[in-house]
Amino acid sequence: MLDAIERRISTDPLAAGGVADLGEVIRRADLDGGRPAHLLRLGLMVDAVGRHLSDGTVSVYAVADRSVLSDTDLTANERMVIRRWSDDGKVEVLRTGGPSAALRAREVAALTGLPLLSRNVSGYPGLSYTPAPTSSGAALIPQMIGPGPVAPAPVLGRHWRCPEPGCPSFGPPGSRIADPFAPPQEEDAEPAGPPPPQLMGGAPTCPRHGAPLADLGPRPRAVTVAARVDGVVWHRFRVDEASPVPVGRAPEETDGVGLGLALDERGLRWVSRSHIRLELRGHQLQVTDTSTNGTTVLRRGGPAEQPRRTQLGRGESAPLGEWDTVELYQGVELGRADRAHGPVSGAQTSSVMADAPTQSIRLT
Ligand SMILES: [Zn+2]
Repeated sequence: MLDAIERRISTDPLAAGGVADLGEVIRRADLDGGRPAHLLRLGLMVDAVGRHLSDGTVSVYAVADRSVLSDTDLTANERMVIRRWSDDGKVEVLRTGGPSAALRAREVAALTGLPLLSRNVSGYPGLSYTPAPTSSGAALIPQMIGPGPVAPAPVLGRHWRCPEPGCPSFGPPGSRIADPFAPPQEEDAEPAGPPPPQLMGGAPTCPRHGAPLADLGPRPRAVTVAARVDGVVWHRFRVDEASPVPVGRAPEETDGVGLGLALDERGLRWVSRSHIRLELRGHQLQVTDTSTNGTTVLRRGGPAEQPRRTQLGRGESAPLGEWDTVELYQGVELGRADRAHGPVSGAQTSSVMADAPTQSIRLT
């Protein structure tokens, strides 16, 4: 089960659907009624995020205080696993003496726009959810709805390098030693994108080592978009500032996203080969219609709002807000992968706790 969880944790903000303080998560005894600290509770959180976003591949970005590595409420094996996850860059373990994991989780959420997942979100102005136990496992209860970042974070538009050799967060590519005990990576695993630097007095700093980061030059910012079919994520892909992404039935471009396999016969006739083009300008997604039959933009101020529909004709463009989606065909919508209205009823999202004896697992 820890292997299943390991595949769904990442310090790549583009692979994540929320940010959490690992020390808080493993102590959420109210989620399962078990012993004071348990690492499997991270799996309950991963499942809650997956269900909320109806996304069976989305990860959780976990930040941990260094004290977690010596927490004697965990087993020796659990502490060893967390240490390995940290060395592999899957969990961000902070240096001693710097800002706490709770503060760092807020910073990551604020810089990236990812939802903050915490029981204590007071004073945090962005999108946040509080995990709560329900009869069908942990669920995310919305606390604040927004707003997302109002301006693109300048630090996300640069390449950063930590002076510490082998830094799992800001080291040179390929500097991580391959882990012989790690589960095999799924073939379609997204390449690792960098975590956001920690800002200390405005200076980009490594959250693991406290060292000021060297600026290696510009890097295009990126956002993850999800194509949803009847609300359930069918495909995730990245759109970055440098390269617009054509989406349609079967775009000719090599970097295009083809949704033909998600369409029924009518949909295949309706959706153009290349139906829309998505671009990222700063932090703002923009859609341009390139189709024969046109595109609908569904505008929402928040997850619970009924959408206002506007039509785009061929050649027309529109900015996409945080909660807006683009409809190519009935039931086929695209929008930010880290924003969703909540679980789709009846949808089966793969669970990392599938091997657990029962849903209401008693962690003893
Ligand atoms: Zn470092």
